[in-house]
Amino acid sequence: MASPEELAQRAGRGGRWGRVVLKMSGEALAGEGGQTIDAGTVERIAAEIAGARSSTGVELAVVVGGGNIWRGTSEAGRGLDRSTSDTMGMLATVINALALQDAIERHGQPTRVLSAIQMAEVAEPYIRRRAIRHLEKGRVVIFAAGMGNPYFTTDTPAALRAAEIEAEVLLKGTHSGVDGVYSADPKVDPSATRFDEISFMEVVSKELRVMDLTAITFCRDNALAVLVFDLTEPGNIVRALAGEDLGTLIK
Ligand code: UDP
Repeated sequence: MASPEELAQRAGRGGRWGRVVLKMSGEALAGEGGQTIDAGTVERIAAEIAGARSSTGVELAVVVGGGNIWRGTSEAGRGLDRSTSDTMGMLATVINALALQDAIERHGQPTRVLSAIQMAEVAEPYIRRRAIRHLEKGRVVIFAAGMGNPYFTTDTPAALRAAEIEAEVLLKGTHSGVDGVYSADPKVDPSATRFDEISFMEVVSKELRVMDLTAITFCRDNALAVLVFDLTEPGNIVRALAGEDLGTLIK
């Protein structure tokens, strides 16, 4: 097993990655017209994932959120028991994972959905060694149901799974039009500048909102690099896998 120091050394630009975890929000699958899951949007992302996987050969696992369907702490969830509401959110990620699986496989790319909540009829259970085996065989692995525990968002299981399968980087795809980590919110402050590279310390101390603090500190503690990039820009998934210069690398 690679040490945190070795993982940190491996993290860098200028060459394709070996194994990655791509995190995308559930909202990345929603259409601009307010659909829960927009077929055209899923198709575009799936086509890119399948194409990027075959053209780069990078071992690829995907974590998809569920915010387009249900978010544990959302307005609608108020009044519900928090754990119940979060469980609903985790089930939402399974719906998204199945949509993504279907779309990716239509492009001839084999996939496996591994769920942190057991549901034998629809997905394999998450077993670390099985996930690694699937990746070695060239399948795209989709991790569903987050971590299986309430009180988290999918950022943290994305980081956790990346560490478990010894991925070199967590590719955090954004869908908000913000293509990396900025000195301030670029939507509010037009003078904000994008960092090409930034340390975990700076992200935490400057309170730059990139992903959940729990996930960021986990990545820092385990020397797992994070590339923040715009998932909605066509061609960016293959660029991210190929280690091209885009977005912001946190290390
Ligand atoms: N969730 C959870 N534990 C996990 C992952 C997710 O309880 O390990 C729940 C939580 O309620 C969260 C919801 O599932 O709000 C959907 O995930 P997330 O908010 O991360 O979706 P995204 O914003 O990425 O679409």
